[in-house]
Amino acid sequence: MNMKKVYIETMGCQMNKSDTERMLGILSNFDYDEVDNPKEADLLMVNTCSIRQLSEDKAFSLLGAWGKRKKDNPNLKIGICGCVAQQKAEKIFKRAPYVDFVLGTHNIYKLPEIIKAVNNGDKVCECTETHQTADTRGFGIKRAKTVNAWINITEGCNNFCTYCIVPYTRGRERSRLPEVIIREAKAALAEGHKEITLLGQNVDSYGKDLKNYRLAQLLRDLNALDGNFRIRFVTSYPTDITDELIQTVVDLDKVCEYFHIPMQSGSSDVLKKMNRRYTREMYGEIVKKVRNMVPDVTITSDFIAGFPGETEEQFQETLSAIDEFELDYCNVAAYSPREKTVAAKWVDKFVPDNVKDERFQRLNKKVQENCLKSNLKYLNRNMEVLVESFYEHKGKFINTGKTRNNKTVHIACDKDLTGQFVNVKISNAKTWYLNGVIE
Ligand code: SF4
Repeated sequence: MNMKKVYIETMGCQMNKSDTERMLGILSNFDYDEVDNPKEADLLMVNTCSIRQLSEDKAFSLLGAWGKRKKDNPNLKIGICGCVAQQKAEKIFKRAPYVDFVLGTHNIYKLPEIIKAVNNGDKVCECTETHQTADTRGFGIKRAKTVNAWINITEGCNNFCTYCIVPYTRGRERSRLPEVIIREAKAALAEGHKEITLLGQNVDSYGKDLKNYRLAQLLRDLNALDGNFRIRFVTSYPTDITDELIQTVVDLDKVCEYFHIPMQSGSSDVLKKMNRRYTREMYGEIVKKVRNMVPDVTITSDFIAGFPGETEEQFQETLSAIDEFELDYCNVAAYSPREKTVAAKWVDKFVPDNVKDERFQRLNKKVQENCLKSNLKYLNRNMEVLVESFYEHKGKFINTGKTRNNKTVHIACDKDLTGQFVNVKISNAKTWYLNGVIE
């Protein structure tokens, strides 16, 4: 059979990467093979992110470059999916007339019909919002050949933080059914993946829309599956972390000692304006509880610099929070206004770009300092590493992987240990990684 070729460029978060794996799985049922080189493709798709303007601009510039190629190859089909597609819908055809289809985040399982219509010469826009999860048609998933498999367990978000576009692009929160998740986990383990990461915008609110089945129970059911593998879950909303969930992490041998708990700002006043439902003190209590209950836990976070109206004093509260709560690592971003969100309308409160950039730099510096401090705690400790990749660097062979508590470890060894659990002694601590020696 003459297979067609598809190339998907994926931008943004892990949720998009997971959607791309799903779309590749669907397309493989309809005679499309994935290619790594867009020049070889009959179908080009960009899976977009709308968290920042920069990412959106990058998607349109890519579409522009692809559009030019239609002159030489009129049969080439171009599609845009993901959050920008969901948000802009038909408007995209005006801005990028060479696009054949726009597919929002709620309807990726309509891809077969869309491709059929597009191959018949139609233009299609499918961006209607649904209240269901994307499980209905039972297509497989074409996972990247990595050690870790990502499984999304919730879709959408109900929180409406004032800076965030997600509730508008991904809709209201829906939990996927436990049996579907467990089936996907079993399939991923059978394919040889050694780590399952459960994914959700608010992973710890999983099951609020199900009957008596929450994240802790899902972890217990996954932990009971056969095999030597690890389980992680991201991202946790601070006030949805229950005592039961923390205790489950302590009790279950396959669930790793790692929590990603975005704080976003260290100032209670800014948190209120962000519509986050906790104060600095409440966040501190939750982190303290997790640290006390889970030995060697790594806690990471997210912060925004220069939220509208943020004063220098309030920004300093963010810096001091990273120290006070001993956050091991933080993703940081300068505030970027997103159309439709509440904070984007507070134009008169926008922090000037130069101030925002300067705060962003200081925030980065603080994160670096704390990351090194956190890594130094593990010097001379014995740790188990799951090796994720093997490469050559300056004539030396390195295996790189993660500890249970999500620390990156480099192991000098000329044998490829990818996919193996290795016990090492930590011999050196750098800002972003540890060095380990096989015991
Ligand atoms: S919790 Fe807030 S920041 Fe996170 S996805 Fe929902 S609205 Fe966005």
